[in-house]
Amino acid sequence: LSFSSLPLQAALLDNLASLGYEQMTPIQAAALPVILQQRDLIAQAKTGSGKTAAFGLGLLNKLNPTYFAVQGLVICPTRELADQVANELRRLARRIENVKIVTLTGGIPMRPQIASLEFGAHIVVGTPGRLIDHISRGTLRLNAIQTLVLDEADRMVDMGFYDDIYDIAAACSPRRQTLLFSATYPDDIRAASEQLLNQPEEIQV
Ligand code: AMP
Repeated sequence: LSFSSLPLQAALLDNLASLGYEQMTPIQAAALPVILQQRDLIAQAKTGSGKTAAFGLGLLNKLNPTYFAVQGLVICPTRELADQVANELRRLARRIENVKIVTLTGGIPMRPQIASLEFGAHIVVGTPGRLIDHISRGTLRLNAIQTLVLDEADRMVDMGFYDDIYDIAAACSPRRQTLLFSATYPDDIRAASEQLLNQPEEIQV
């Protein structure tokens, strides 16, 4: 299946062609129609499946670059994954002008992160502890969030981040769309999704 069957902006479709993404991966083919209908989603998908583009295209397609507020938030378990996700989002966003994607992870100084946020971020990709730090200092405001993505949710729960994720989600606009990606689907992920998602569609590939 080709991406052009989807209601995506021309700038995104043109860029996918220039990246050499010709066919959707199975997770993209299953998830994107649901995501573009603005439904909440639980998707069982591993790294390498193309899950980043699945949520990234949904996020970018409804982004308003002329509105200077954080509209998309992706929570990741590790700094390495956050960097990878941010890089892939920047590649996908190449043909949309003036999109700012900021990474907020621990182990690096707060000051440059705060400066980036003050300069205006449309999408934030971060790890739970550092996100909580910015929220409690008031340097990250999530009232305009349209899309919240929990990436590798099972790993985040295993690492003890459930309460942080819950607090971050509580700081987001309640009108948001929430997308949860997880390689496995144990009971605690099911319980988490019942608290954080609204009548989610479930897909497995
Ligand atoms: P991910 O599972 O999101 O880490 O993606 C794995 C790799 O697949 C990344 O390097 C992407 O750039 C690439 N990729 C994602 N979707 C497609 C696609 N539809 N066609 C070709 N490559 C893709």
